[in-house]
Amino acid sequence: MYVVGEKCLGCRFSDCVAVCPVKDCFKLGANMVVIDPNLCIDCGLCAQVCPAEAISHDLESQLQWIEHNAKYAKIWPAINEMIEPMEHAQENISKENKAQIFDSTKGIGQK
Ligand code: SF4
Repeated sequence: MYVVGEKCLGCRFSDCVAVCPVKDCFKLGANMVVIDPNLCIDCGLCAQVCPAEAISHDLESQLQWIEHNAKYAKIWPAINEMIEPMEHAQENISKENKAQIFDSTKGIGQK
């Protein structure tokens, strides 16, 4: 299972969305995306293209984010096309402990 983790927060580059072969697999939040665990086919393409290295198959370190991906995949709208990264995405790549900026509201702004 692939999971989007906290490194996505404040970046939301969405290169992952562009390469994912499964329709509606990614869902859009206000400051990150998540993967729908019921749709993901574990191809791994998304993890290879994420500029923030936010997508992981390392489940032991991702328990909180496994829950977040499953929960918000049921709530947030699907995203099937790449969108503009967040305004400060480049500088946010290297920030640590971003979990505190998690925003549970659904994302908007898909082209
Ligand atoms: Fe989509 Fe493959 Fe990533 Fe799953 S592992 S979210 S199917 S690109």
